[in-house]
Amino acid sequence: MTQQEAFEAQTEALRFGDRKEKGIWRKFRFFLQDHPTPLVWGWKLAEAVLKRMGGLFERIGVKRSSRWMTPVEELIKKPIFDCQMCGQCILHSTGMTCPMTCPKQLRNGPCGGVRMDGKCEVIPEADCIWVKAVERSAKTSYSNEIGKLNPPVDWQLHKTSSWVTVAIGRDQVVTGSGSGPHHASEVISS
Ligand code: SF4
Repeated sequence: MTQQEAFEAQTEALRFGDRKEKGIWRKFRFFLQDHPTPLVWGWKLAEAVLKRMGGLFERIGVKRSSRWMTPVEELIKKPIFDCQMCGQCILHSTGMTCPMTCPKQLRNGPCGGVRMDGKCEVIPEADCIWVKAVERSAKTSYSNEIGKLNPPVDWQLHKTSSWVTVAIGRDQVVTGSGSGPHHASEVISS
């Protein structure tokens, strides 16, 4: 594989994830997400637990904790949400719909190309992720968060555990912003 081909493969994987799921499981996943109440309960429980684990993760070491938690998180969230492991989860704000599954990975609403029938500009046979997010959000107790302005995704956290970033309180912190003691470089290198 040439360097150019390797770069293109890497870019493709980054942009579209490695989604290979098909058929019945995909339909079941969409059904679950279209009826998000149990998923919201799961998130509330997880959040309550994680918020108490920040100190423990800090003592263990944030990088080490993330290394241990990443496979567990991916194992659970990949099949249910097609999670792309961005490291800064905003699922509950977007109707339990992962915005990183948008081909353009938009975190703040749809692009200008969403079709009149609610389909994606890039993948015409797929629903626009943000149309789904708005529809599903109305069925959750976080419907007021759908219009929230989310910080740009911090790519230094790609493939790290968002559970750890939630626990240590840097899930909404932008690297270099100066807000909060935790920056991506600490998560990666501590
Ligand atoms: S961690 Fe990021 S990629 Fe994974 S579900 Fe949450 S928002 Fe999506």
